[in-house]
Amino acid sequence: MILFVHMLFGAAVGSSMKYIPLAIIMAFLSHYFLDFIPHIDYDVRTKKGKYLYGRLPAITKVFFDMCLGFLLIFIFSKSTLPTGKQTIIYLYAIIAIIPDSLTVLSGIFPNKILKAHTHIHTQKVHFLKEDPSAGSGQEKISRFWRIFSQIATVIISIILIRL
Ligand SMILES: [Zn+2]
Repeated sequence: MILFVHMLFGAAVGSSMKYIPLAIIMAFLSHYFLDFIPHIDYDVRTKKGKYLYGRLPAITKVFFDMCLGFLLIFIFSKSTLPTGKQTIIYLYAIIAIIPDSLTVLSGIFPNKILKAHTHIHTQKVHFLKEDPSAGSGQEKISRFWRIFSQIATVIISIILIRL
């Protein structure tokens, strides 16, 4: 899923927990939960696309994606959270995107543990693949629902952050 959606949801899940160690674990697990829901992803490979977004290198997309995450958390959490929670909510957001970082890392430093994680993360959790070659699920869930699932996640996350 798009990083800023993971960040918002991780921040929402984390900030709704009282016990910080549990909040950290839940923010981390929230990533897999969202990946499990059919969603749309952007390509991190750089294409010579017609649109600006397709031409941007992966690192630029990830950078803007993360900035958007921090910005949205800043806008929606600022006034409602007590002082201590204002800082830690950004930590939950970062923790929520660790699984994607581990997958990137396994491409750079291949080892057994990272490879096993990548397999579970990209093959088992993303079981309703967007890629038609990847198999089942593709035909049944339209682009509309894949976009809708992310919009709904963003709205739910914002409500949870503001509670
Ligand atoms: Zn993921």
